[in-house]
Amino acid sequence: MAGDTGLCGMCAWADAVRSAHGSVFLRCRRSEAEPERFAKYPRLPRLECEGFEAVRKPAEGIEPSTSH
Ligand code: SF4
Repeated sequence: MAGDTGLCGMCAWADAVRSAHGSVFLRCRRSEAEPERFAKYPRLPRLECEGFEAVRKPAEGIEPSTSH
């Protein structure tokens, strides 16, 4: 995924979804249970999120954020 994904790129709840046109989107699985709190396709980069849970490796297909 191009650009900086922020927290979502390192979050256990994020899935990478590839469209028919080849674009890659990041989907937040927390939106399934709590759509009023979490967007299905969060606007990136997301710099703060109360639902963030870190994973040891980035979500598949998503480049980790390199800026600190
Ligand atoms: S919980 Fe927050 S940081 Fe994690 S994928 Fe959803 S919007 Fe992104």
